[in-house]
Amino acid sequence: MTDAIDRLSTALSDRYKIERELGSGGMATVYLAEDLKLERKVALKVLKPELAAALGPERFLREIKLTAQLQHPHILPLHDSGEAEGFLYYVMPYVEGESLRDRLNREKQLPVDDALQIAREVADALGSAHKHDVIHRDIKPENILLEEGHAVVADFGIARAVDVAGGTKLTETGIALGTPHYMSPEQASGGQDLDGRSDIYSLGCVLYEMLAGQPPFSGPTVESIVHQHITVEVPPVTNLRPAVPAEIAGTIARTLAKAPADRFSPAGQLATALDRRVVTQTAPTTATVSGATGSKRWYTVGAVALAVILGVWLGVRTVGSGDVSSEVPRIVVLPLDNLSGAEEDYFADGMTEEITSRLAGITGLRVIARQTAIQYKGSPKTAREIAEELDVDYVLEGTVRTDRAADGTGQVRITPQLVRASDDTHLWSDIYTADLVPGEIFSIQTQIAERITESMDIALLEPEREALAARPTNSLDAYQLYLRALDYHYREISERARRLAIDLLEEAVTLDPHFAVAWAQLSILHSLMVRNFYDLTDERGDMAKAAADSALRVAPNLPQGHT
Ligand code: ADP
Ligand code: MG
Repeated sequence: MTDAIDRLSTALSDRYKIERELGSGGMATVYLAEDLKLERKVALKVLKPELAAALGPERFLREIKLTAQLQHPHILPLHDSGEAEGFLYYVMPYVEGESLRDRLNREKQLPVDDALQIAREVADALGSAHKHDVIHRDIKPENILLEEGHAVVADFGIARAVDVAGGTKLTETGIALGTPHYMSPEQASGGQDLDGRSDIYSLGCVLYEMLAGQPPFSGPTVESIVHQHITVEVPPVTNLRPAVPAEIAGTIARTLAKAPADRFSPAGQLATALDRRVVTQTAPTTATVSGATGSKRWYTVGAVALAVILGVWLGVRTVGSGDVSSEVPRIVVLPLDNLSGAEEDYFADGMTEEITSRLAGITGLRVIARQTAIQYKGSPKTAREIAEELDVDYVLEGTVRTDRAADGTGQVRITPQLVRASDDTHLWSDIYTADLVPGEIFSIQTQIAERITESMDIALLEPEREALAARPTNSLDAYQLYLRALDYHYREISERARRLAIDLLEEAVTLDPHFAVAWAQLSILHSLMVRNFYDLTDERGDMAKAAADSALRVAPNLPQGHT
């Protein structure tokens, strides 16, 4: 022990006997100590002297008393706090065990059930603290201690206390406050009034790491990680850990939404979502959709379509992120099987996409986002199993066969089947054949979408009917270029893919300048070049704006154009 600690030991000697160091972080060192009065082991956390010097001690101690009020089985309580010999310290129970960081160092990836249990317990802890207006602000594996396999969250409210008591002086000390790996976008962008949803995002990062073996983002510098939290879509956890059930992957995606309003909130909602899997293993659940914020105001066609498109744009999962009453049926459009060669994959995916987006514009229906549905491409799971995993009432599946002659003419045949999950009945199936000309292709998409709503007894509003019947372009070539561009857009997040998609869309709008959706998509891709930090020039922003303007000139009411 250093001289300094000797002095502290002496100062505290009537109450605590310091035994050994347990560990240290950026701000403090933690010692195992004996509470002489109560005869128990405690963890004594002593702030680094340079930090303590920058803090107003009274303010700090007053702030952390807020934490002392928290009582929850998964929250590490605060026993005591004080100032001695210029040291600021606080005392908490000693957790005999290890931190989640230690366990991750050892195992890298945890069994799915263990990860879910830990995340659920932390979510419960967050729920309780948030109710008392205490935000953690530093949820990370180091602060999740494991006691006989159960999570106990340490350091509640400390980050805020340090912030409040330190003010601007903190920046001058140059002490790095925490790691950026678990920072929410709003925290990363320096937001001051964070709320509980920031903690939820951080917990999402921790859960992601428990399953994937690495946090959602890493990079050589703090700045690069911070930028990614703010702008880059998190790759699905299943990319790194295919065994994670789609439902859980969806839950994580929602937890990691860039916009706080798109995340689970309150934390109890997340705990329930993580719990649901346990329920679905034993018995099928009925279709309930969580989501309590907001109101009916979102139920206008344009807004719903806009929300869906925005969600796709931001790369977040939109389903279930808004308010939904339990009566609104949920449907997933599974990737239609391509019965032709691999060169027709993009076309089959495009058909899936178009049917999905047509249905997404209907108020009386909730449609699982394409990013979620696409995970089932080629999956051996039955419609019923998938319905259970996604908690949907209906599944649309089917096949696409394209026969193309050398000159590009030909026919397409789509055989959709609508399955009701509750009793596994095939409500409807049919065969649609069309020539490969845009008018006919769009007409099939419209007919399929209409048949689905009829089979589900959904009444359509007039604007919805019009939207369903939309025919975006009369040029087959332009349309195929557009589908290819979408294929790149969804398949990978890389500068190369973005640029290829942009080239294809530019060709598409050159062929058909009235193709409004293609203009809108072009605008989105230009924006993504900026948002993903591939191109930060003003020209790129101007191109995004110009493309959006073109979209709106052709179709003033097009939601994608406004997006
Ligand atoms: P950080 O949380 O950034 O690692 P801390 O100073 O909060 O930094 O903690 C340092 C280490 O001390 C933790 O990683 C943990 O392993 C250990 N630790 C903290 N609190 C306790 C406790 N109450 N019981 C046992 N070990 C603890
Ligand atoms: Mg800690």
